[in-house]
Amino acid sequence: MEHLSKRINSLSESQTIAMNQKSKDLQAQGVDVINLTVGEPDFFTPPHVKEAAKRAVDENYSFYSAVNGYPDLLKAISAKFKNENNLDYKPEQIIVSNGAKHSLANAILCLIDEGDEVIIPAPYWVSYAELVKLAQGTNVIIPTTLENNYKITPAQLEKAITSKTKALMLCSPSNPTGSLYNKKEMKALVDVLMKHPRVFVISDEIYEHINFVGKHVSVAEFPEIKERCIIINGVSKAYAMTGYRIGYMAAPIWLTKACSKLQGQMTTNASTIAQRAALTALTTEKTYTYEMNDAFKRRRNLVLGLMKEIPGFKCNVPEGAFYVFPDISYYYGKSDGSITIKTDTDFCIYLLDKAFVATVPGDAFGEPNCIRISYANSDEKLTKAFKQIKEVLAKVK
Ligand code: PMP
Ligand code: GLU
Repeated sequence: MEHLSKRINSLSESQTIAMNQKSKDLQAQGVDVINLTVGEPDFFTPPHVKEAAKRAVDENYSFYSAVNGYPDLLKAISAKFKNENNLDYKPEQIIVSNGAKHSLANAILCLIDEGDEVIIPAPYWVSYAELVKLAQGTNVIIPTTLENNYKITPAQLEKAITSKTKALMLCSPSNPTGSLYNKKEMKALVDVLMKHPRVFVISDEIYEHINFVGKHVSVAEFPEIKERCIIINGVSKAYAMTGYRIGYMAAPIWLTKACSKLQGQMTTNASTIAQRAALTALTTEKTYTYEMNDAFKRRRNLVLGLMKEIPGFKCNVPEGAFYVFPDISYYYGKSDGSITIKTDTDFCIYLLDKAFVATVPGDAFGEPNCIRISYANSDEKLTKAFKQIKEVLAKVK
């Protein structure tokens, strides 16, 4: 569009959001679509958190808060880092924003200049590469393989670093593959970064609490690198609060101050009502979170079992988050007699049109041989979805 800025014209639409909308539009038209696109817990926000939001309305939390967030919320996040991650972050090092996505945008816009290189392991979450583009940075993508559980090796990282590298983007547990770096693997990456003192790490830890294998490892736990870490987290996934839009960043104070300046010009504080609800979420027992985690683990096993019954789905065993990311390239070039599947998008459209199941093409995550399926849905819907997928794919030869 000729009137629009080059900046916005160069940006791709978020495919997760677009596919979710498409699926919702079809549902509104009366089509019985099973929506396995967007990644958000299908659970309701815990009742005591909802009560806190209602109380905040009644108690007139209706005025601007400090740009970075209410002091008691910043303190609670600082305590969360200490208690859950054994990390010392002072409240001044923390800024609350409108979702982890906004925290990421702040960090990238404050850190990345034109020509700076940002290393992104693929498959990656859809918004990383686009936000880097928005900051006029250069994406350096490191491909990974199913055999390596979609994790980068220290040698790959070493090879990707140049004199222009400004940051490494990490997402553990990963959206879309569910892979996570254990302590040993993380340490090996830190060892490489120690040879390159100008490289920062932006660590997206939004799936911290959706983990099926053990304790979460944050890159900032390694004291030698902590001063170069930017930790992104939020309440969307752990507390089923996606719509509340509360995310946060912990970082060296100079970066938090810069993000505060940017946020002060762009959005001011995150919603005060949502901040009060987030405070309650972060300062009460996580029983609800653990229950959700158990449900996601059960569903992961269910979905892995259901996928095994369908020929041509190759998938890693996700260790966290709530997605499977199967390689479905087996179907490329195959046809049901009238439609030939050539790409991941063709495959997703075929599933939507024929099986009434909505998924996201892997291309949006930098891996065009795969599709992403969110299993944040009920056991019944998941079972029904895979039954329908199996039936339609049986005709594709
Ligand atoms: N990072 C990743 C990897 C995600 O999957 C999401 C979910 N959309 C986000 C960040 C953003 O989360 P939020 O809802 O807090 O903006
Ligand atoms: N994290 C979710 C996803 O990847 C939410 C959508 C988004 O924020 O892009 O589907």
